[in-house]
Order: sequence, then C-alpha cells, then structure tokens
Amino acid sequence: MVELLLGKDIAKSIKAEVAQSAQELKDKYQVTPALCAIQVGGNQESEHYIDSQRKLAEKLSINHMVKELPENVTEKQIIQLIKNLNDDSNTNGIILQMPLPGHLDETRIRGFIRSNKDVEGVHPKNLGKVMLGTWKIAPCTACAVMELLKSTQVDLYGKEVVIVGHSQIVGRPLSVMLMQEMSTVTVCHIATSERGNLKVHIKNAEILVVAAGKPNLIKGEWVKPGAVVIDVGFNKLEDKIVGDVEFETAKNIAGIITPVPGGVGPLTVAILMRNLINAVKLQLNGTI
Ligand code: NAD
Repeated sequence: MVELLLGKDIAKSIKAEVAQSAQELKDKYQVTPALCAIQVGGNQESEHYIDSQRKLAEKLSINHMVKELPENVTEKQIIQLIKNLNDDSNTNGIILQMPLPGHLDETRIRGFIRSNKDVEGVHPKNLGKVMLGTWKIAPCTACAVMELLKSTQVDLYGKEVVIVGHSQIVGRPLSVMLMQEMSTVTVCHIATSERGNLKVHIKNAEILVVAAGKPNLIKGEWVKPGAVVIDVGFNKLEDKIVGDVEFETAKNIAGIITPVPGGVGPLTVAILMRNLINAVKLQLNGTI
C-alpha cells in the first residue's frame, strides 16, 4: 500500500519553530522580522505566491511589504530599489518575484540582493555555501524536498537518486544537498529526454524527484517498485492542477509518493519564513 507524503504536517512544525524564533527576536532584540517582495508587472502566479507569503507572515507576526514596479521598469531602477532595501534596517528579507519580463536578467539582478537578506537563497554567495555544505540560507524548494525526504526516515546513504530538472532553485542545489548525504545522484534534464534516455534513468531510481514543469512527463510504469517519488511539478490544466508524474498509475507502484497539490507546495512558504529568521540572525550578529 503506497504511503502519501503530505507537506502540511512538516510545514506545521516549521511554522511553529518560526513563530517561536520571531517571538525570541522581539523579546531579545526588539526586532520584528520584515520581508519585502518586489513584483514587476502583474502576474497570476506571483500574485498567488505573494498572497500566501502575506497570509503566513500575518499568522507569524512577521511584517510583509510588496513593492510593485511597472512592466517596463529598467534593470537600473530595480537594482536601485534593491540597494535601498539592502540599506534599510527595517527590511530583513528581499524576494524578487518571478517571472520577470524578458528584458530583465534575473540572475544578474538577484546578485545585487545582499546575501544576508537573500531569503530565497539564490545569491551566488548562498549558492556557493550550498556547494560547500555550510549554508544557512538555501533555495526554499530544494530545502522542502530535503525536509520531505528526511521525514520518510529512508536512509539516503548510497541510494540511487534521480532528479529530473536542473534549475537553479530546485535540481542543482538539491543534487548537491543529496550528495552531502552520500546519495548517488543522477540529474536528468531536457537533453536527457531529447536523447530518449529519461526512462532508463528513472527505472533505476530508488528515490525520484521531478521538477520539470511538464504535466505527466513521468509515466507511472517507469517508476521502480517501492521507490520514493517527490513530485515538485505544479501544472495548471483547464480543470485541475497536476504534477509532472502520472499520479494515478505511479501510486500503484511507488512505496511513498507526494500528491500534487499537497506535497511539496505547503512547505515552500514555511521554509521561506525560516530563511527570513536565519537572515535576521545573520544581520544581528553574523552567526546563527
Ligand atoms: P525551470 O523551467 O527553471 O526548469 C525546468 C527543468 O526541467 C530544466 O532543467 C529542464 O531542462 C527540465 N525539463 C523541461 N522539460 C523536460 C523534459 N521534457 N524532460 C526532462 N527534463 C525537462 O523550472 P523550475 O522553476 O525548477 O520549476 C519546475 C516545476 O516545479 C514547475 O512546475 C514549477 O511550477 C514547480 N515548482 C513548484 C514549487 C513548489 O513550491 N511546489 C516551487 C518551485 C517550482
């Protein structure tokens, strides 16, 4: 019988930890953690994410602001705003909402967010620390997958892990985090599919993590019997939301599987808030 791996229980305990840390920061340092989201142009996807940030911030007594910029904003103007927020002692965390309009280079712009305010963990310094295994702030979704895997109590040592997707926020940092746990990691991406090799790798995966953004890309029958399957994909179809894994068939073969929605999603914002707490601590005394 397959075990459904839900994010909400883990999210609950992370939120409780964040609430306690936020209270301690207030009592000890008179600091109320504050997060600022920068949104360029209107977009349903980023509206939804900002809304969940706002709701959780409210519950955890965290200040939340949004700076809205027009679609035609220049790189120079965004960078100036980021510099102002870097210098503002009332802002502890900065998020650059995706997607950005095509004329803006997200990697370049993100590099201007001061690393100890980079609550998304995407600054080169924070990503570099992920490489070294010394990180305090790391990409939220990669952390969410690690939390889910740890909650299964499956021993990661030496396990065959296949990650589908090599993005900066999921596949790449996650591959390094799993190597630190001594897993044997294979990272697949679009070129793997183009060469027709995706199925071969997946058949071998004792742990499979998929973050491609392609509905039902992974066929249920490809899944190794008893595998742990973490589906990061979040795809809106006309009448429903689906992941990247064919859930109905995969659930009959996998040992443990995350549903979409309800798996990875609920954890991401909670981890964003945990990153904010760590950011405040880094700003206060440079250590955690
Ligand atoms: P991205 O577009 O930055 O990267 C996609 C990756 O998938 C790339 O490595 C690409 O090569 C690979 N890919 C695309 N098509 C493929 C194919 N046919 N075969 C094999 N590999 C393929 O995506 P991202 O930002 O990492 O997001 C991936 C998915 O995860 C999206 O559905 C996104 O909505 C979802 N996501 C969910 C959360 C959450 O909190 N639940 C957070 C972040 C992303």
